[in-house]
Amino acid sequence: MTKKDIYNYIDNNQDLFISVSHRIWELAELSLMETKSAELYCKVLAEQGFEVESGLSGMATAFLGRYGSGRPIIGILGEFDALSGLSQEAGKTYHSPIEAGANGHGCGHNMLGAGSLAAACAVKQYLTENNLPGTVIFYGCPGEEGYASKTYMAEDNVWRDLDVAITWHPSSLNRVTTGSYIASIQREYTFNGISAHAAGNPDCGRSALDAIQLMNMGVEFLREHVPDSTRIHYAITDAGGVSPNVVQAQAKVVYMVRCPQIHDTIKLAARVDKIARAAADMTETQVTVHQIDSTANTVNNTPLERLTYENFVQVGLPEYTKEELQYAQDLIKSYEAPVAIPEIKELEDELDTEDYDKVWQMSDKGKAAINNFVVPYKPCRKVRMGSTDVGDVSWQTPTVQVETATFPANCPGHSWQNVSCGASSVGDKGMILAAKVMAGTAVDLLHMPEMLVKIREEFCEKTCQ
Ligand SMILES: [Zn+2]
Repeated sequence: MTKKDIYNYIDNNQDLFISVSHRIWELAELSLMETKSAELYCKVLAEQGFEVESGLSGMATAFLGRYGSGRPIIGILGEFDALSGLSQEAGKTYHSPIEAGANGHGCGHNMLGAGSLAAACAVKQYLTENNLPGTVIFYGCPGEEGYASKTYMAEDNVWRDLDVAITWHPSSLNRVTTGSYIASIQREYTFNGISAHAAGNPDCGRSALDAIQLMNMGVEFLREHVPDSTRIHYAITDAGGVSPNVVQAQAKVVYMVRCPQIHDTIKLAARVDKIARAAADMTETQVTVHQIDSTANTVNNTPLERLTYENFVQVGLPEYTKEELQYAQDLIKSYEAPVAIPEIKELEDELDTEDYDKVWQMSDKGKAAINNFVVPYKPCRKVRMGSTDVGDVSWQTPTVQVETATFPANCPGHSWQNVSCGASSVGDKGMILAAKVMAGTAVDLLHMPEMLVKIREEFCEKTCQ
């Protein structure tokens, strides 16, 4: 079996992978409640000859499928959770929920899981037909949207023994993701005070809502004394009730703090904790702190990214029909704002002038309905203003992330437009493309022991302090 046969294998079996993607799209199960989705994956993996383990790290919907023996061990990561309130009919260019308020795959994780499954199956096929040593493991990672489950799996050292981990994410760009996503810590602060009649005996009351107000004010002043790339956001999730004439006895606020590096994020979260305790002191209330989740910044790996990029270029981009391009064009009309900056513009600071000019022309000056180029790879130190639990994987093994255009250009994230694409032929084509890029990279690595050494060296340099 050659590398070309891998692509053919994925094409010839695409009905299976697309049917899994569309079924997960229909199920649209929320974080850590993806019971039926996980069952479907475990069933398909077993049918395909993988040895399945479920209930990883105490999570009922976390699982893996392993095939082969010996090294290298290549991990391919899949996600499959949906988002609430994003129900939407597939392939429609206007907002049309299947059921108002129901869930939808607004981040395209139905494709993410099924594309990774396709890649894992292709690598399995290659190992079998060529009778090669090596192991491929598909990881079913639940709860990406809500609980950063990979972080808990990292605590159990799930990824430590891999040679590399490969994953992807649906996008409106075709690229190998480089730079680093920032680290994040999310905590809930619960203030407990004393309830009282706000007019009759206010002196007896101690307000938990006052404590939140003071905490928020303290954090506002903190913002002046943190590095520029820091992000702090909050939501008051319980304001203590709706009656102003009651002194609020309990109130809750959730804070999310983010810095480019995880160690700085830990320090910043401690400063926010200190402000919460001070607010409790000032109001004579008590505060308890509950850690919701955290993700480390991603550690990128240049040799691995470069190899993946070469594979991306080798595979090339899919052709779209007139109808598909029209669908993308109509969908763009539903979110295009006059002030929107095309994402191509945003690539300006990442690319050389020559590469940028090429990309700009190919994208029809930022107007192509579906981006029709692979972003030229240039390792960059760019800090990306988002967080992902892939970060925790990347501290345990060299990790690479691919993005493919499953959505039209500039499509907003976590949107009904994403849900519409998720079970459309545009989404399917992007997913199959991602599967080929990942499988091609994995197969290359089976024959490149020196490359694996190089990849490991850079990983150690960046993670062993
Ligand atoms: Zn996502």
